[in-house]
Amino acid sequence: MHYALCTTRPVCPVALADGVESKNYSIGMHNTPFHRFSHSPFHKKGGNMSFWKGKRALVCGAGGFIGGHLVKKLKKEGYWVRGVDIKNHEFATSQADEFLILDLRKPENCVTALTLPNKLNKPNKQDKPDTFNEVYQLAADMGGMGFIHSAECEIMHNNALININMIHAAATSNIPRYFFSSSVCVYPDMNPGEPELTENESYPAHPDNEYGWEKLYSERLALAYGRHYGMKVRIARFQNTYGPEGTWIGGREKAPAAICRKVAEVKDGGTIEAWGDGSAVRSYTYISDLIEGIYLLMQSDLESPVNIGSPKYVSVKQLIDTVAEVAGKRISIKWINGPVGVQSRNFSNARIYSLGWEVKVSLKEGISLTYPWIEQQVGKSK
Ligand code: NAD
Repeated sequence: MHYALCTTRPVCPVALADGVESKNYSIGMHNTPFHRFSHSPFHKKGGNMSFWKGKRALVCGAGGFIGGHLVKKLKKEGYWVRGVDIKNHEFATSQADEFLILDLRKPENCVTALTLPNKLNKPNKQDKPDTFNEVYQLAADMGGMGFIHSAECEIMHNNALININMIHAAATSNIPRYFFSSSVCVYPDMNPGEPELTENESYPAHPDNEYGWEKLYSERLALAYGRHYGMKVRIARFQNTYGPEGTWIGGREKAPAAICRKVAEVKDGGTIEAWGDGSAVRSYTYISDLIEGIYLLMQSDLESPVNIGSPKYVSVKQLIDTVAEVAGKRISIKWINGPVGVQSRNFSNARIYSLGWEVKVSLKEGISLTYPWIEQQVGKSK
């Protein structure tokens, strides 16, 4: 097990007072499990109170795009947060109170992820928290359409292991609430102009790709554990989500990030390549809207899966035009063969709307917030 290096300060006064740390405690020692377990709840401003008195959340996949943003939201809401991932966040310093590097395909690591640091810190018995209040499971081996079609075995193998082991560890640790991040990839392909699909119309099942089949299996797995262990399970089926601090290069990036990168890389008047013929229809949800939806859903009584995504559907060509407009560039598009995925999407948001959720950020506003970040990454990478 590796622990993210603690660099906040070389000597922690609270830990010193607890007698677990000497004045000569070097900064390198902050990387040890004992140090982290012994004082990390007290380590950040307000951490003490939120750990002992407030809600405690575990975010799996906190080193990723949505998990990283979710940690920020939960910190704003006053939670004590532990993030877990197989890697550190690539684009930002995690705001989690604790960040553990763990491979959640392994059952023992799922148990470690769920074990609170109060093993060593027991101020007094009645205050001692037993479990996390909420677990958010966003860890997945995933990427855009190119990755989904080329890495079918990794996706089905790794994601099934993560979900099987995490839900079992959570249910047997008496976690009260468990969130699972599913996807609209659980639905079959649609034709343009088809009426909205409700959540129930994911059956009879015919997802377009193996990623969708694994999500559907893991939804059922989570619901079964919910039924048998009394754990409140909340499941969101995300539409394509974009924003800053997400993967933008390397083959796992999704369409909005890939297009922002390609547009940032060409000069005004240049040509970019894109898969398909530009007619495939999608909706793109800005990250802050998705995060609000996840949070509302987790606090709600909605027991079955819930679609979360922008109700505005656009073609890939319209997405590229929006990026080019935001970038202030004239762009030509060369359409090439590639894994486009499904032809059309149109989903009901009635369930998430029933919680008062609505989209606040339009595609143009969201791209205006995302493009400059990706342009900056492109500049830095040169
Ligand atoms: P991401 O790739 O940025 O984040 C996933 C994180 O999981 C990564 O940081 C990765 O390192 C981590 N992970 C992978 N294998 C792991 C392992 N064995 N142990 C621990 N951590 C591991 O992806 P994201 O966009 O933030 O997606 C989060 C969740 O939302 C995923 O479950 C994804 O399937 C789902 N989802 C995302 C979108 C989207 O548009 N981004 C759409 C539908 C569903």
